[in-house]
Amino acid sequence: AAARLLVVGGGFGGATAASFARREYPWLDVTLVEQRQSYVTCPYSNRVLAGDLALPDITHGYEGLRAMGVRVIHDRAVHLDPVARRLRLGGGETLSYDRMILSPGIALRYEALEGYDEAASTRMPHAWIAADGAQITLLRRQLEAMPDGGVVGLVIPPNPYRCPPGPYERISLIASYLSKHKPRSKILALDAKDTFSKQALFQDAWQALYPGMIEWVSATNDGRVVRVDPEAMVLETEFGTHHRVDVANVIPPQTAAAIATEGELADSTGWVPVNPRTLESRIAPGIHVVGDAMFPGPMPKSGFLANSEAKAAVSAAAALLRGAAPPEPVFVNTCYSHIGPDYAISVANIFHADTGAGSFLEVPGSGGTSPRGGLPEQRRLEALHADGWYASITRDMFG
Ligand code: FAD
Repeated sequence: AAARLLVVGGGFGGATAASFARREYPWLDVTLVEQRQSYVTCPYSNRVLAGDLALPDITHGYEGLRAMGVRVIHDRAVHLDPVARRLRLGGGETLSYDRMILSPGIALRYEALEGYDEAASTRMPHAWIAADGAQITLLRRQLEAMPDGGVVGLVIPPNPYRCPPGPYERISLIASYLSKHKPRSKILALDAKDTFSKQALFQDAWQALYPGMIEWVSATNDGRVVRVDPEAMVLETEFGTHHRVDVANVIPPQTAAAIATEGELADSTGWVPVNPRTLESRIAPGIHVVGDAMFPGPMPKSGFLANSEAKAAVSAAAALLRGAAPPEPVFVNTCYSHIGPDYAISVANIFHADTGAGSFLEVPGSGGTSPRGGLPEQRRLEALHADGWYASITRDMFG
């Protein structure tokens, strides 16, 4: 019988794994378990908030994967049995596998922020797990309903979290919308950190494009929010300052998704430790864990990296199934951030597996960001490159 590769989660890591496995290793029998009928990307969702794109522009179906020969099952994975190599689904079916690629993404740590829970997120959306798009749509509607002169508050978590530059892209694109439609409004960004990804490039651009609109408050300057009150629309900081806002985007701390934490694959960090060469779980042999759920050492939690990791994991699984040595992986990342519709910046890095140390290692001198300075043509070109990236990666994932 053909070797069975079971992929759990049909997002950046999982959809990549399924399509890559069909293309590169046609002898593998590939099944994908994904709880939703379609996938809304977090990348480019900030452009939906800005009003430059609509939800259908960032929604993808699974027909392409089916056409490639992937058996797609829409159900929830509820119980992992790594010893028997079986997975139970919410609908009752049990699937057996030879190797699994697990890419379930993140869960929100509601208990980490007093006053914030799922009910609170219907008034103070997080919009950090795209799911069916409801959170993004809610935040967009709230921005549209806010009067000119209102205050949009953001609560930004400590590291590590999904998409390090994401909150700052969001600040920028909310500012892009407000500057056109509600120019007297303000953005108050309360951060649990003192520095952030591409900081100088973001702050230069905020001053140039949206002067006076954005106030970013570092942790040292009382930016760390410890409690929220969704009824009163108040964000309360560590030092007891109460900020009353008109719209609140609360991005709470995060952990690996439930299937990984409940299966006890995650350790005390909340993320899943893996062998860096094969991305195989250190706790559950036969399960390769990729994407945001994995403990990535110095690597950021990005869709670009989830795609790169998924290919490395499938290659390792295929080699191991044939009794061969897994190839030496290379992990690549480029994160584009839009600051306006025709203005984007980027950061890029390359990582290796440091098998000796059992971790990932940034290749020295491999990384960099866009240059600083008033470079409108370069920013416009990077916005075009970002569009090309989005089109190509979603094609790579979904066919
Ligand atoms: P996900 O893409 O979240 O996929 C997980 C999938 O697993 C989901 O479809 C979920 O429904 C499914 N699932 C979970 N549990 C189960 C279960 N028990 N049973 C069945 N199915 C299950 N990255 C970039 O590279 N570039 C960007 O420009 C960028 N922009 C971003 C902007 C924002 C606002 C945000 C929030 C993130 C951004 N990211 C970006 C990060 C990117 O979205 C994540 O890194 C990426 O989605 C991680 O992929 P993943 O496969 O780990 O998880």
